Amino acid sequence: MDAYRYVDPGPTPPASSAATATVMRRTGRRDTGPELRLRKTLHRRGLRFLVDVAVPGGNRRSRVDVLLRGPRIAVFVDGCFWHSCPEHGLLPKSNREWWRRKLEGVVRRDQDTDAEITAAGWLVVRVSEHEGPETASDRIERLVNERKRGTHS
Ligand SMILES: [Zn+2]
Repeated sequence: MDAYRYVDPGPTPPASSAATATVMRRTGRRDTGPELRLRKTLHRRGLRFLVDVAVPGGNRRSRVDVLLRGPRIAVFVDGCFWHSCPEHGLLPKSNREWWRRKLEGVVRRDQDTDAEITAAGWLVVRVSEHEGPETASDRIERLVNERKRGTHS
């Protein structure tokens, strides 16, 4: 627990604009559209996986969106807003300081999660919401094949 550096920025301020409210609603949910589309595409390509599970051997309760057990690949589907995507991440105009701390906390938590899962012997793959299911599936499928052949570095 001491390695858990996530800092609670305090209570959530009211969503100040319709746009922020929409983003918060959309991204706060489980089984988001991008995640469902990725799962569907991977499944169609014959890949089998577990959904929303903890990594075996991990020491935290971070849940992986898509877990490919055989090749030991842990996939996260990151929303552009919450995970501060360099292309589409934005800082809401009001309550700016609160949001800055909040979103920085998410990024730090992502880094902690990646380190933990990597230490447990898994490959972490982060898919961005904007990547699209086909591109992301190409990437994942390639990694699965590489790790099957044992050529992963
Ligand atoms: Zn993005």
